[in-house]
Amino acid sequence: MSSDLVIVYHRQPYEEVEENGKTVLRENKSPNGIVPTLKSFFGKVDHGSWVAWKLADDANDPGWERQIEVEDSFGSYSVSRLPLTQKQVHEFYHVTSKEAFWPILHSFKDRYNYDPVDWPNFREVNWRFAEAAAAEAAQGALVWVHDYNLWLIPGYLRQMRPDVKIAFFHHTPFPAPDMFNVLPWRKEIIESLLECDSVGFHIPRYATNFAAVVQSLFDVEITERTIVSDDLIAEGTALTERRMPTRLGGPNRDVHLSVAPVGVDVDYIQSRAREEATEARTKELLDDLDSRKLILSVGRTDYTKGGIEQLNSFERILEDRPELRGKVQLMHVSVSANRGMAAYGEIQSAIEEAVGRINGRFGSLDWQPITLVSRAIPFKDLVAYYRAASVAWITPLADGMNLVAKEFIASRIDGDGALVLSEFAGAAVELGAAVATNPFSNRSMDVAICQALDMSETERRDRMKAMQSAVRRYDLSSWGLSVEELLPKPHRDAA
Ligand code: UDP
Repeated sequence: MSSDLVIVYHRQPYEEVEENGKTVLRENKSPNGIVPTLKSFFGKVDHGSWVAWKLADDANDPGWERQIEVEDSFGSYSVSRLPLTQKQVHEFYHVTSKEAFWPILHSFKDRYNYDPVDWPNFREVNWRFAEAAAAEAAQGALVWVHDYNLWLIPGYLRQMRPDVKIAFFHHTPFPAPDMFNVLPWRKEIIESLLECDSVGFHIPRYATNFAAVVQSLFDVEITERTIVSDDLIAEGTALTERRMPTRLGGPNRDVHLSVAPVGVDVDYIQSRAREEATEARTKELLDDLDSRKLILSVGRTDYTKGGIEQLNSFERILEDRPELRGKVQLMHVSVSANRGMAAYGEIQSAIEEAVGRINGRFGSLDWQPITLVSRAIPFKDLVAYYRAASVAWITPLADGMNLVAKEFIASRIDGDGALVLSEFAGAAVELGAAVATNPFSNRSMDVAICQALDMSETERRDRMKAMQSAVRRYDLSSWGLSVEELLPKPHRDAA
């Protein structure tokens, strides 16, 4: 069956689990990822499908699942799983995406490594994804492509299916021309994106950077029209929509640059926070803390997340303010997602080394300054930690959005708790009431965490109230509205 909405994302829309020696598909109920939000769009069309990849011994294996019909709480939709070999995945995902694109998107030029990139392989994988999407799409369908590792799809898809609408969303930051143009494939990538009807970003600054990159490479006109002006004021910029009539051969096309920050499901998180089990777990944690203040830091082990900068700051404040010793507790959750990649192994070792040093230096028989957690904490438990924390300390050097910050705020049904947030997280644009910090400055890091620890309850509550209304203003349901106008109308409405 062909589909009116085709979502192309490298993750599958469900979990594959082994049960009694058989592989079964289980609905991914995680409220925090974007998977459920994306799936909810299937309810707005007659039929939807999802294109992802799956490991295969042979990429041409004819036995792969082209269309699996899935029925879950989001209705029925189909899933196409593109067979990719281990080698293709390694080269497309771990090398090209993580060693070349990721550092540039996050402005880490010195981590950028383009030598091992196999560009023909990257093109081929993207071409195959485009073919799969083209095979699923009905006449005039919307194909919604997600993230930088699929940058070439729009260009290929436009050749295969001139009739479809194409939307692309960046879940990462988008850098300015001096950074982006380091990529030798810059023109090919941008030409592909200019085949979209809509290119989406979390915050205005990324869209502005994208427009500047386009203008640095091609002769295009960009017109601007403000669609929301009273929000996102922390950025000092209005949320804007730009239309770019491009003239890159072929007919003129309006490319709509949209800004839509990914949010969290506030109601869901609050209902989890209210659950009896969460209440009990929170109380247990507070009892264990024995009136010490919990500083909570949660993120993936990645050089972009500022883990080392944070640990060094914690060491300095324990040194400079001896009265804090024994009175605060840092829980540093650093989840290793990319095992086996040198850059991530390095950062993991550096974190372990710093934690060992600080605990050795300041710890005593009854007080361990830092608890390091390297495994992912299930969301239901994470909510209890969010609730028990005095301060959430989130200090990425660069981060597209940062959902942890928003989840922390959403879970504080008690209206208390302080947030220290890096100026370089996309979420900082909406969360002007957080204590802002610049993780590239030792002084700024130390001052911010001390300000949060010393803050009066009244100030904490005032700031939390402002942050809660911001998180609700751009919650998960508001994200995605930007592509809704591109969706074909369901036939059932016309009938
Ligand atoms: N997360 C989790 N358990 C953990 C650590 C993180 O469930 O132990 C989740 C967290 O709730 C959040 C996501 O992982 O939804 C991380 O998203 P974020 O935008 O903060 O960072 P990303 O990893 O996407 O860069």
